[in-house]
Amino acid sequence: MSSSALSSCSSSQGLTSPTQIVGPPAPPGRKKRPRSFILMSLSTNRPLYEEEWFHGVLPREEVVRLLNNDGDFLVRETIRNEESQIVLSVCWNGHKHFIVQTTVDGHFRFEGPPFPSIQELIMHQYQSELPVTVKSGAILRRAIYRERWELSNDDVVLLEKIGRGNFGDVYKAKLKSTKQDVAVKTCRMTLPDEQKRKFLQEGRILKQYDHPNIVKLIGICVQKQPIMIVMELVPGGSLLNNLRKNSNALSSRQQMGMCRDAAAGMRYLESKNCIHRDLAARNCLVDFENTVKISDFGMSREEEEYIVSDGMKQIPVKWTAPEALNFGKYTTLCDVWSYGILMWEIFSKGDTPYSGMSNSRARERIDAGYRMPAPENTPPEMYRLMLQCWSAEADARPHFDEIFNVVDALIIRLDNSH
Ligand code: ADP
Repeated sequence: MSSSALSSCSSSQGLTSPTQIVGPPAPPGRKKRPRSFILMSLSTNRPLYEEEWFHGVLPREEVVRLLNNDGDFLVRETIRNEESQIVLSVCWNGHKHFIVQTTVDGHFRFEGPPFPSIQELIMHQYQSELPVTVKSGAILRRAIYRERWELSNDDVVLLEKIGRGNFGDVYKAKLKSTKQDVAVKTCRMTLPDEQKRKFLQEGRILKQYDHPNIVKLIGICVQKQPIMIVMELVPGGSLLNNLRKNSNALSSRQQMGMCRDAAAGMRYLESKNCIHRDLAARNCLVDFENTVKISDFGMSREEEEYIVSDGMKQIPVKWTAPEALNFGKYTTLCDVWSYGILMWEIFSKGDTPYSGMSNSRARERIDAGYRMPAPENTPPEMYRLMLQCWSAEADARPHFDEIFNVVDALIIRLDNSH
């Protein structure tokens, strides 16, 4: 990866630098645009962060996904040692990243002439068709515009804190543009880049899914810090809290309905080759109608089989299948094991599994064949299903399609008997 060894520009010279030129705003088109349009978009007086090819603090890993053909380019910001740098990323024999250099009199340049604004510098590179640096040979051919997922940070008004996530607080918020109530996960600014990438992984996975039992992604905000993931607001909050809070009011029929919802969401994920890896009541949400939605895709992987070779420190041991704990081997059938624990949590109204046992003791006992007894008032068919989900051999466990059908048939039978 080559990049020009140029000096950085400070945040005041970067994001907030005013653009000098006046004209019509860009129409809401995407990606491929004729050169003539780009010339027009130069004649605006909007700040850099409003340019459609400016992607804010979108991490490099995400940027690289967007640049597919030689000449594709975009502009972004990185923060190094609390200093902002504006970077031009180009697909050219791989991916090249060029830091915009600031001259002593506040102009912007790469190897060629300086310009009073970053927009003009980029337009010069684009129109002249000259390489950004001689060494790289990289030529700008097509500006890559923000995806519809990339929302403006300023469109989000945080209202109240509703939870605490691994990476930062979770808020109820409102989108100014649509007045929609949303949930927003924020990522602490102080986390290292690697963690920020992990944080955004959830957004990347969720944006492909559309199912009533999977929490919906509305967008990501990466225009500036703090980066945020915007999701549908599921007003009841976490399933675990809900089970504990409403334990007296919860009927067996409602519990079965929750199991069916979770199975429907998981069946959908299985069909998309997504392994969740952290299915548990704490990671499901419920709305006011008690509909369960699978959430928290921070550990998910889109693979049929996923082998973990690094440390297992953060593994939710009591929810995790033995072959994943022992060999790091994850498949959708590991999610089925966790689903059995989730069923147990639902019928125990939010108890902690293997209570009184440490993680390592629970592991030992499971390996020796121990399985939790049925919580009080669990329908026998549902307990049978739990035990199948906890088969020591992964292949002996039912797939989510079968689980859904079993639970659905039980509910229909129950409804018809009343
Ligand atoms: P993380 O993945 O960072 O650990 P979680 O997904 O567990 O964060 O979210 C933390 C808490 O925030 C949840 O337990 C829940 O109470 C709340 N929360 C998260 N997402 C939503 C949402 N879409 N709607 C309502 N509440 C949410």
